[in-house]
Amino acid sequence: MTLEERFLLINREVSQSSISLSDPEIVKLIVRGLGDGAQVDKPIGPLTTFRVGGNARIFFELDSEHSLERLFEVLNSYLVPILVIGNGSNLLVSDSGFDGLAIHLSGKFSEVSGFDSSENAQYFDNQARGPERIVLCGAGLAMPVVARKTVARSLTGFEWAVGVPGTLGGGVAMNAGGHGSQISDCLEKATIVSLDATSDNFALLRQVFAAEMDFSYRHSCVQSSDLVLWASLKLAKASRSDSEKKLSEIVAWRRENQPGGHNCGSVFTNPQTPMAELGSDMINQAPQTPMAELGSDMINQAPQTPMAELGDDTIYSAGALIEMAGLKGFSVGQASVSTKHANFIQADPGCSAQNVYDLILTIQERVEMRFGVRLKLEVKILGFDNDAV
Ligand SMILES: Cc1cc2nc3c(=O)[nH]c(=O)nc-3n(C[C@H](O)[C@H](O)[C@H](O)COP(=O)(O)OP(=O)(O)OC[C@H]3O[C@@H](n4cnc5c(N)ncnc54)[C@H](O)[C@@H]3O)c2cc1C
Repeated sequence: MTLEERFLLINREVSQSSISLSDPEIVKLIVRGLGDGAQVDKPIGPLTTFRVGGNARIFFELDSEHSLERLFEVLNSYLVPILVIGNGSNLLVSDSGFDGLAIHLSGKFSEVSGFDSSENAQYFDNQARGPERIVLCGAGLAMPVVARKTVARSLTGFEWAVGVPGTLGGGVAMNAGGHGSQISDCLEKATIVSLDATSDNFALLRQVFAAEMDFSYRHSCVQSSDLVLWASLKLAKASRSDSEKKLSEIVAWRRENQPGGHNCGSVFTNPQTPMAELGSDMINQAPQTPMAELGSDMINQAPQTPMAELGDDTIYSAGALIEMAGLKGFSVGQASVSTKHANFIQADPGCSAQNVYDLILTIQERVEMRFGVRLKLEVKILGFDNDAV
């Protein structure tokens, strides 16, 4: 029996469930099918802004329509777990890595088509309504680059993203936002393809308009098996100097208010519920454990504020709750809560993904005990005991 025949047999046996990539022969077959751009055991921790975490069993650089076709063929035959990785600025990968196929966009999928002088350039000025301009971008393009390139074209509406270090695809998936705007405000439509070979939409390039994206705070309809390939942004003609001023102000604000180093931006989403609705009967549930027992010398920094005093109509940000729980500067191993912004976790040299994960769990527990609020993750985590903490 040839290797291919053996694989087809295995594939039929596994039918609708994902295969494990522990068999090196299967890995070889998949890599051969993907061709150029495929790598085995590629470290993907360094591709995240935390700079921690292990390898992807298979990594594929998707840079052209031809490579997309090869990807479809492979996924049609081999049901493997998929991870789409953008700029890794909202991603924590476990130290044991990802036993699947990680896909990263580049080449053709990381260009602003409108500003490209190549023959493929498509700039949809002619479709503009009034002063609006539609700009078509590859989803692998970094959002700060899009912000600067559109401002250079005297277009306004995307300046807010200059400090969001993700790709446009990641931004659409997350409905990234800041400074009073978010992707849902400026997206016209996205081209999305399902990589789930068991889905009816598999390998179909769908144009999904913003109104159909089910956008809400840091949420969209994009599933983990979906790949955003292109996004068209709806921007407006404006004064270039005004937009440049806005960019500078945003960059200065970020420098002033957010830490540098290795982090993923906000770890938790901001709760949307006022404290009053969370019930001030939480007073007595304030944690009694001294911080020293949790491995910190922060005993005296634990807040003494009773819940009743906080039980007003204020919606506290995740950062404020973490700070009020006395956790600013608290660390597990080499992962620590930033002293500049309590919703940021810093991964210092020698940090492991497990350190970051353990710190996340500790923060959730401490804030819940103190305020009755279970903080929800904004960062996507992968490969831990419980990826849905
Ligand atoms: C210093 C710093 C500041 C930040 N500030 C902000 C901020 O102000 N506002 C904000 O919203 N976020 C912020 N972030 C978080 C992050 O930049 C955003 O969430 C961003 O949208 C993630 O994009 P990414 O390409 O890095 O996605 P990744 O981290 O690579 O992935 C995040 C999720 O998106 C999915 N994904 C990525 N690309 C695609 C694609 N092409 N198709 C389908 N799914 C995809 C991944 O599978 C994963 O589920 C910050 C991060 C850092 C490090």
